[in-house]
Amino acid sequence: MAQLAASQVAVSVPVGSDLSTRRSVLKTNNLNFHGKSWAPFLSLESKTTNARLRNKQIICQSVQQASVPKVVVSPSSLEDAKEPPLNTYKPKEPYTATIVSVESLVGPKAPGETCHIVIDHGGNVPYWEGQSYGVIPPGENPKKPGAPHNVRLYSIASSRYGDFFDGKTASLCVRRAVYYDPETGKENPSKNGVCSNFLCNSKPGDKIRVTGPSGKIMLLPEDNPNATHIMIATGTGIAPFRGYLRRMFMESVPTFKFNGLAWLFLGVANSDSLLYDDEFTKYLKDYPDNFRFDRALSREQKNKSGGKMYVQDKIEEYSDEICKLLDDGAHIYFCGLKGMMPGIQETFKRVAEQRGESWEQKLSQLKKNKQWHVEAY
Ligand code: FAD
Repeated sequence: MAQLAASQVAVSVPVGSDLSTRRSVLKTNNLNFHGKSWAPFLSLESKTTNARLRNKQIICQSVQQASVPKVVVSPSSLEDAKEPPLNTYKPKEPYTATIVSVESLVGPKAPGETCHIVIDHGGNVPYWEGQSYGVIPPGENPKKPGAPHNVRLYSIASSRYGDFFDGKTASLCVRRAVYYDPETGKENPSKNGVCSNFLCNSKPGDKIRVTGPSGKIMLLPEDNPNATHIMIATGTGIAPFRGYLRRMFMESVPTFKFNGLAWLFLGVANSDSLLYDDEFTKYLKDYPDNFRFDRALSREQKNKSGGKMYVQDKIEEYSDEICKLLDDGAHIYFCGLKGMMPGIQETFKRVAEQRGESWEQKLSQLKKNKQWHVEAY
């Protein structure tokens, strides 16, 4: 159990015994704990999941602060390496992992399905927050008969300890790629995305070939625990940020005591499409000085010109603050579909011009300082 300050009281609470099945993986029931409402922030649908978590312990920082529990994570050796693991498993020799659970994250009014997929790698494919796994779907590559499918990359949506805090799982946030005929508007299943459908259709116990981990651009810089991290996500681009935020606010990590500012902007179509919203809402409640969260719901909200509300409109709304934070050394991260970047860049350019600054110069400075991190696919 982690060390607590003398004024604090350690309380261990078993998790996973009183959690019911809900739409979102992180929709939770509130438990009553020492007379305080205590949201366990882990809603776990499958029996496997509940069994795995039954013995997990939560540390409450103090009885007075019972609403700010942190979870004990293991093994501590996951903090030892100086460099992130890279390509431990390559496409020619992938690791065969096992699906633990597949849960839809969205409600009925979301356009399209997005699933949270937990994969058991048995501790054999460790990764750091912000990295990706490759997945090789079963079957034959239609372009190379006899050869396996090409690897598809997926940003990992959990911290290195995984959703069970034991370093043995990785979670993915996968949008099912569905093909609609542009003329008829009807779905054509023969043209649906191979890997995303394989993942979203898979069942607990299914085997899955993974490669990686890969990627360094989205690693969370941890040299300064008081730093500001501005995260801009569209849709499944939320994945790496969920990993960061669990490390910052959910886990008791002895080597990383985050006390800076994490500011998340998430753009999705509507409220039914929000991803991991309960988890983030809980951080807002528990860490109001360290976490900010702005949602852009393109089909439900209007921007100041009466158009659809995209993440760049939210960025514009807070542009003075964001520019100041960047000038003071904040990191800014973007993750999601490639299409998100042009609109965002235009907004930054316009804002910079209004401030009498050159966006090109500013951007090159941000890149030089390693403050600018983009993963668009
Ligand atoms: P594919 O089979 O590769 O098909 C691609 C598209 O073509 C689909 O939309 C499909 O419907 C369409 N298509 C298929 N056949 C035809 C045809 N004959 N005519 C016209 N269109 C056709 N995705 C996520 O969901 N979550 C993530 O976190 C994520 N992270 C990523 C991170 C990185 C670094 C990268 C590079 C990509 C990431 N992706 C992520 C995207 C992911 O790798 C896949 O590209 C995505 O899931 C689609 O793969 P697929 O096999 O389902 O589709």
